[in-house]
Amino acid sequence: MTTTVPRFEELIAPSHWRTVEFISDLHLQASEPATVAAFEHYLRTTEADALFILGDLFEVWVGDDTIDEPGSFEARGCAALGAASQCRPLYFMHGNRDFLAGPAFLRRTGMTGLADPTVLVFGHQRIVLSHGDLLCLDDVDYQRFRIQARSSAWQDAFLAQPLATRRTQARGIRQESEAKKQSGVTYADVDGPAAIGWLQAAGASTMVHGHTHRPAEHTLAPGLARVVLSDWDAAALPPRLETLRLSAQGLERIALDPR
Ligand code: MN
Repeated sequence: MTTTVPRFEELIAPSHWRTVEFISDLHLQASEPATVAAFEHYLRTTEADALFILGDLFEVWVGDDTIDEPGSFEARGCAALGAASQCRPLYFMHGNRDFLAGPAFLRRTGMTGLADPTVLVFGHQRIVLSHGDLLCLDDVDYQRFRIQARSSAWQDAFLAQPLATRRTQARGIRQESEAKKQSGVTYADVDGPAAIGWLQAAGASTMVHGHTHRPAEHTLAPGLARVVLSDWDAAALPPRLETLRLSAQGLERIALDPR
């Protein structure tokens, strides 16, 4: 499957930002309380001037009306994000699990939505930010689904169903994907030539993305790098809790304390 090079939105970092941090793939869910607690602690303690969440913050998002369900997991998450965005700007990019997080979610949390991809201009550095799923070209079935699921027709039809129905459907899809994972299937990775094409089109030397849960720094070509964020799992041994910090010195992985 081939891809055309997308249009790159540009975000110019204000000159007073000293550090920004990137996270993704926390897959927050009620059944993983330790990861939720670690995230809430991180939101309260990070000293970054801005926080970029590059998708799959939530394990699943079935509609913004979940925020108004009294005591819902989504309402709790939004409260924590809302408090954090009072202290520093928070940016949110959709992942393949939470692509239905909409305008009401952004309003409630005070976060700013980020297009995928976006070029962050930070001093002299130009960094392409993406969730990463768009570049996993070998997963043809998923790319087909993605086009469908990002259409307003599909989204309107899905969101028109009662919330309980949507929650049931999401559980079904999640069980299927768990079963697929257990079966030992290998997942597609980011396509190297396509990533190089994006970097060249964006005039950037570095790409930061998540999605694949394969944290690493890849040199794609001389001077072109692909930096992959870790997913989060506070209950894993050892715990996977990590942020990627950008400063004038470049990128640095920071291991966070479990809570
Ligand atoms: Mn993902």
